[in-house]
Amino acid sequence: MYDEAETDEWTPPTEAEMKILQSRQERSDEISRRLGNYMLQGYRMLDALCEVCGTIMMQPRNGEDFCVACTEMESEISKDDHAISEEAALSTKKEQEERKKANASGEV
Ligand SMILES: [Zn+2]
Repeated sequence: MYDEAETDEWTPPTEAEMKILQSRQERSDEISRRLGNYMLQGYRMLDALCEVCGTIMMQPRNGEDFCVACTEMESEISKDDHAISEEAALSTKKEQEERKKANASGEV
């Protein structure tokens, strides 16, 4: 049946993935809040996105445009990146082990 095949393909998100998603959600909430505060202070929301993190750029009345997330939340972004790179390292290691097994059986 088609239903069974589709069920096999779907895997629930891991705890680590959920944590990353949750921290991203919390961060974007915080960024939205800060963007709102800046707009109340007379900053302009630009029609441009930050090249680093994709957050909307803000511009003071007489000044350079800047990214709220990169300027004010750098530590939280690097923390997030660390979690992602740890995940990537784990999956790469697993992949290498599987490749080793495949090579071993191929030599027979
Ligand atoms: Zn940024």
